[in-house]
Amino acid sequence: SKVLFWFRRDLRLASNQALQDAVNNGASEALFFVCEKQWQIHKTSEIQIDLLKRRIDYLGGKLAELGIKLHVVDAVDFKQLPLKFNEFITLHGFTHVYANREYEVNELNRDAQCSEFDAELRLYDGDVLCQPGSVVTKSGEMFKVFTPFKKAWLSEFSQRTFPLGKYLHTSFTPTKWQSPDILKSDGQSEKWPVDDNTLSQVVELFLESKLNDYSEYRDIPSIKGTSGLSPYLALGFICATDLIARIQQRIPDILLRTKTSAFVYINELLWREFYRHLMYVFPKLCKGKNFNEKYDAVIWLDDETAFTAWCEGNTGYPIVDAAMRQLNQTGWMHNRLRMIVASFLTKHLLIDWRKGEAYFMNKLIDGDLAANNGGWQWAASTGCDAQPYFRIFNPITQSEKFDPDGTFIRKYVHELEWVPAKYIHFPHDYIRAVGKQCYILPIVEHKEARARALDAFKV
Ligand code: FAD
Repeated sequence: SKVLFWFRRDLRLASNQALQDAVNNGASEALFFVCEKQWQIHKTSEIQIDLLKRRIDYLGGKLAELGIKLHVVDAVDFKQLPLKFNEFITLHGFTHVYANREYEVNELNRDAQCSEFDAELRLYDGDVLCQPGSVVTKSGEMFKVFTPFKKAWLSEFSQRTFPLGKYLHTSFTPTKWQSPDILKSDGQSEKWPVDDNTLSQVVELFLESKLNDYSEYRDIPSIKGTSGLSPYLALGFICATDLIARIQQRIPDILLRTKTSAFVYINELLWREFYRHLMYVFPKLCKGKNFNEKYDAVIWLDDETAFTAWCEGNTGYPIVDAAMRQLNQTGWMHNRLRMIVASFLTKHLLIDWRKGEAYFMNKLIDGDLAANNGGWQWAASTGCDAQPYFRIFNPITQSEKFDPDGTFIRKYVHELEWVPAKYIHFPHDYIRAVGKQCYILPIVEHKEARARALDAFKV
């Protein structure tokens, strides 16, 4: 037999059981398919593609040190991929291929097609805390509310000690890595390190110095109170099981201490898990469908001008504009802000969540179908366990609450740098009173927009 490991969004050498098993069964070669056209179809952002390429290049070098040759093959898109896959395994005579499962519809179809060939495809659930579809109600169905899902997961796992990720071990002779042109970086993601030493430090620093205050600071965009690890989780440089294991090293009974700050963080990892399971059980989520069909009747507005204003951060609502400019400039946005801008687009502007979902995907460095779709449908009230439609975020009070002194707004909306904190959340009267004209007027009026949304959602 001849064994191959196929990398996808599981780009790590530690805590990768499928990879270790492949190596234990003799695999000294690995494969990654570049699929530029497919990434375009999936609206993957340029910055994420750059991060991915830099990581593959790094892994190629690390694998060579361990005596594993990484093949990087251009497959263009998922239509051509099965053919390329078959050619590759036939040419090299592979009999077994190990990989981690991906749960999106196109990825599942790809794997189904690739299972038809001569090599046996062995798939692992390496990107989740447990197999999607395995945490279910008494009647065997997927939970449609997060809290009971979490409780069911905890009743199964709260006593368990998660294993610390072991680094890949091989006994092969080291080889040399030559960076292929196809992995050339355009530098967009360079602020995000891709090497394991630095990544490990980033993780440890978060756990050591921020985890205890996570619950207090996680909602304040001007403070780096969250982990900032989402791009790495999205591409599998690190995994949730390993994060939980590292927390358990510090707080062994953390999964029983659900009122602690550290657990509030784990709770977010469980939201990630919940959305992954949902996407697997309800493939329609990959196809742009509302989770809650009741809202198929909502009539969205086709307002290109308003959509462009939102995209560019020119709505006249400072917190929304600062957030969108953060996204456009950095490829990342704070979770509180994602909720605010998604609510603003779908409720205040009554623009279809699918347009926001696509825009996010195209800009985010941590773009992830399950989490992004989950977040958008939550904000649009069309989702599973979503925000009720009548609870509409007021962007001004959200701003007052989560950016009280306007520090975050000032960082991205430079035209408001001089405005006192008291007025910065909705500065229009103040700006007019001092005789200036420096900031775009609000594109909708809050009360009217709110009433219009309530009306549209009463279906
Ligand atoms: P932390 O606060 O440190 O959270 C820890 C980890 O848990 C994150 O790294 C992430 O992997 C996961 N996580 C946190 N919150 C959520 C959540 N609400 N749903 C699912 N997973 C979560 N997250 C993505 O990874 N990719 C996306 O494309 C994405 N799109 C979103 C769109 C909208 C409209 C909303 C409201 C949320 C979206 N999120 C998405 C979830 C969340 O905003 C980000 O995961 C988080 O801001 C990343 O920052 P962090 O790593 O510092 O998070």
